[in-house]
Amino acid sequence: MNLFDWRSRSPIPPPTARALALPGSQRSGKDDGSDASSENELAQAFFAHVTQVGVPAQESVIKDAASFPGWITVLSGPAMTGALNVPVELQDKLLAVKLTSGRIAIAHDPLDFAQVKTRIYLMRAELVDLGLDVQPNTLAVTAQVLREIRVAAEKKTGSQGAEVRSAAVEQFRQWIVQAKELGATDVHLRIRGGNRADVMVRVDGDLEHLPASKAGLTNHQVLTCMKAAYESLADRHSNSDGNFSELETRSCIIDSQLGIPNLRLRFNSERGFYGPAAVLRLLTTSVNHAPMGFADMGFGLSHCALLEKAQRMESGLMIQCGITGSGKTTAAKTFLETHPKNGIGAFYQVADPVEYLIRGVHQIGVQRSIATLSQVGKKDPYTQTVESVLRMDPDIVDVGEVRDPISARAAAIIAKTGQFAMCTMHTGSVMGILNRLVDPNIGLSRSELTAGNMLGLLSYQALVPKLCPQCALDLPHARRNAQDTPRDQHYLDFIVQTLGQRLGLDTSGLRFRNHEGCEACRQRGTKGLTIVAEMMIPDDEWLDLSAQGNDRAAWRNYQNTYSDGDLASANMCGKSALEHAIYKALNGALDPIGLERFGLFEKYQPSRRTHAKAGKEVLA
Ligand SMILES: [Zn+2]
Repeated sequence: MNLFDWRSRSPIPPPTARALALPGSQRSGKDDGSDASSENELAQAFFAHVTQVGVPAQESVIKDAASFPGWITVLSGPAMTGALNVPVELQDKLLAVKLTSGRIAIAHDPLDFAQVKTRIYLMRAELVDLGLDVQPNTLAVTAQVLREIRVAAEKKTGSQGAEVRSAAVEQFRQWIVQAKELGATDVHLRIRGGNRADVMVRVDGDLEHLPASKAGLTNHQVLTCMKAAYESLADRHSNSDGNFSELETRSCIIDSQLGIPNLRLRFNSERGFYGPAAVLRLLTTSVNHAPMGFADMGFGLSHCALLEKAQRMESGLMIQCGITGSGKTTAAKTFLETHPKNGIGAFYQVADPVEYLIRGVHQIGVQRSIATLSQVGKKDPYTQTVESVLRMDPDIVDVGEVRDPISARAAAIIAKTGQFAMCTMHTGSVMGILNRLVDPNIGLSRSELTAGNMLGLLSYQALVPKLCPQCALDLPHARRNAQDTPRDQHYLDFIVQTLGQRLGLDTSGLRFRNHEGCEACRQRGTKGLTIVAEMMIPDDEWLDLSAQGNDRAAWRNYQNTYSDGDLASANMCGKSALEHAIYKALNGALDPIGLERFGLFEKYQPSRRTHAKAGKEVLA
């Protein structure tokens, strides 16, 4: 039975027979003798016709799935190739459907006709080339109905879409397994120009190609995996939107569906010129394992003493700063899991999203929504959660990253009301913390921050690759290796001279990265990461100077008070991250070539060992 009259519903009334000849005629794969020029002419005629067509009258649009003709399968979509490949953004605006009658219909959303009209033409031409019987006229269908048809098609067991998807998920899983074996912290999926896509892994701080991707992957392969991972593996409520988008930011947590023991992923994707890029942060979830000790992470013994002192504080604000991927979350996990009150205190964490599972902590994942923030009278879910936690008699609340007035205010209120608050910030040094918190975008005041019991522990940390002990080079070998590149050699000499002559240090322990590597480090020259940190608990002088806005003097005074002024000593009291890094380099753990990321040597001034408290812990 003819369900309805195709022509009356089509936004494209039958054009001239000549224009129809190419896209609509039944060539059935036979060579009809048309040459390239006549095809071009026909194409132009078709385009001319198509561009004239406006939005169809409302009554000719299919608005519910029941009115859609009987269909067998959907032929187009993001997983298909050629003209049947319809990107995610358009997948609910354009569909090629095989009808129960055996004919193929092209259905599209009339509201977005301008976006898909070229595709309609190409799709029709390709289907005809495949020898299929294509309806001459398109179906005008609402996006909602198109979506229902597509979702129903994806659900059909054994349908091509589902097979493609499960293959893509499996492929994605293999990449993650390989990345885990390499000890990677992140996996980067990138769409590039020239239909080449990359799967890179970050190991010891550097990006490298995953072996599987060296052979070359197409944009389509990587995009399909990206989409399948987001849509099929995301934890419920963790994703920002149900469908992947090539044009919008997406984020989610992938955990229970991943099926790799003790591993979860944080997924973030962002649009780009050639296509989206996705980054997967690998998060180990060993909630039952013993937490990693502060010293094992690379903190100095005096840092550990300050962290333990903070664990004995009843109230105040602990601020950890550093860039993304500097190990802040791992340090916070250890801080909470080794806390003497773990298990007998009320510990809460409000996180966006929950990255690591922390023993003994009630963790609440929320999404900070810009959408709800802009709606008058509607509270952001983060604010709601923090307010609720404040009523739950907390001992410690980890409010996550402070990046707006809401989170900053939450942290300040907790600390002021006599509980212990923890937060993280993106600041490049301890000295920069106050300045950032009083920035109008955050909105705390100097007077409240420098009041007696507000600030507990301030710390900055970074993760730095450790040299491979098997193949690291001593100074003569490093010099020989650098001699072909005058620039490298010049810089190497500058660093060694600064350490040896200007600072008067013993440089015999310096080791340099061997870029050829060895078997032990898989040709990387580095093996694992270690923390470089600076840390302080404010004393009265620091608070007084900071209250006056004199942050540099406050930090300088703190250093002069507590530092032992000896760069070769293991005592990190009052020492900066640069000084911690220098100490590690002098002992051959870090490549000195990377030291200046913590501050330029030209600006560096050693602390003066003037104070009676030198080398002592603050408040000891
Ligand atoms: Zn090595």
